[in-house]
Amino acid sequence: MNVAIVGGGIVGLFSAYFLAREGANVAIYDENPGKYSIHAAGLIEPYRFDKLNSTGMIAKMLRYMRHGITEVRQVNRAWLIELLKSLNKEPPAEAWSLMRDMAKFSLEFYAKLSEERNDFDYKNDGLLEVYASEEELERGVKEEKASPFSPKFETVDVEGFAGGIFFPELSRISTEKLVDRLLKDLKEFNVKLIRNEAKVNLEKKNVNGKKFDKVVLTNGVWITRFLNLPVTAFKGYGIWVKGKTRLSNAIVTVNEGIAISPLSDHIKLTGGFSADFSSEWRGDYMFEKTKRLVEVEEVVSKSLGFRPCSPDGFPIIGKKDDVTVGTGACRLGWSYAPAMGEKISELVLGKVNTFGYISKYVDKLDVVQDRRSG
Ligand SMILES: Cc1cc2nc3c(=O)[nH]c(=O)nc-3n(C[C@H](O)[C@H](O)[C@H](O)COP(=O)(O)OP(=O)(O)OC[C@H]3O[C@@H](n4cnc5c(N)ncnc54)[C@H](O)[C@@H]3O)c2cc1C
Repeated sequence: MNVAIVGGGIVGLFSAYFLAREGANVAIYDENPGKYSIHAAGLIEPYRFDKLNSTGMIAKMLRYMRHGITEVRQVNRAWLIELLKSLNKEPPAEAWSLMRDMAKFSLEFYAKLSEERNDFDYKNDGLLEVYASEEELERGVKEEKASPFSPKFETVDVEGFAGGIFFPELSRISTEKLVDRLLKDLKEFNVKLIRNEAKVNLEKKNVNGKKFDKVVLTNGVWITRFLNLPVTAFKGYGIWVKGKTRLSNAIVTVNEGIAISPLSDHIKLTGGFSADFSSEWRGDYMFEKTKRLVEVEEVVSKSLGFRPCSPDGFPIIGKKDDVTVGTGACRLGWSYAPAMGEKISELVLGKVNTFGYISKYVDKLDVVQDRRSG
């Protein structure tokens, strides 16, 4: 079976991994694979899920806006309509059960990859959220107690903060090293990497003039160029620095939504959650906001990426005819990518036709008709 994967971000790379392992003949199209995924902090934190279509989340966004961390510049209209239509609606119990399975699968899969060869700074030393006020800490504890993931957590003292919540089961990686690792593994599985933008004719299953049996769209926020799906971009920034951190764990400052992850050869700062499709850099505020925790000696590089967000924060994984779609995991694309890749391969190989709630937007499409065919 010849499969074209359009988009070599982390979801496309894991899709190729599982498909090739099952014997499919895979080609990935991406001008620069991983470029829009590597800015991420690399926290494997599937239990820190945000249900976007809730008034609680909207209140959180408004708080972020007040702190000057979030801006609303441009949203996909279809996304906004679906968000409002589904506001505060609870997904069915099976949806949470599927997410719990996907979370567990992904956490275990990164551990397994590291057991084969830890060439991507894998660490399972947990994650610490730090809170500036007692009130927010209390709210955080309440949210974790009510979480459908029932994560293990404990409250801890953190000097200079009201306190922290520590999640011992969560892990982290170096995103750029994991992309390199996957590219090596994919080469061994004979996956072809075509470093071009794909022009796609979905009806004819034709990519850059070549016909395939199946097409997989894992091209992040750019999926809306091909299909009318409710996905919008929440832009964020990554800064690689050298210097010293006060704490050796991965940390998230809840007030500002900034993650700090000390890796073997640099420290990564990430943040920003702005509804914005533009490539304008506005991430320097992170230096000021993290100076109590990180002493920066050198800035190695800066990058940005676009979280592909569905209206409810659940990933969108589904299939229409011979076209399979995988996107939408928003803040947690890395945390769910192994499971998303595995589920996408099951759809492509015809083992299943739908995953219910997370396939709903794809199941609803009448035809896979390109918005812009090439
Ligand atoms: C600042 C920041 C920090 C984050 N931290 C974390 C974290 O710690 N943990 C976590 O789980 N998640 C994190 N995320 C979220 C995560 O990075 C995203 O969810 C993830 O990158 C989405 O992956 P993707 O493969 O779906 O899309 P993308 O990474 O956007 O990849 C899509 C790819 O498609 C390609 N493409 C587009 N159109 C075409 C075309 N026509 N032809 C060929 N290729 C095309 C693009 O070049 C791109 O490489 C973070 C995000 C940001 C912004």
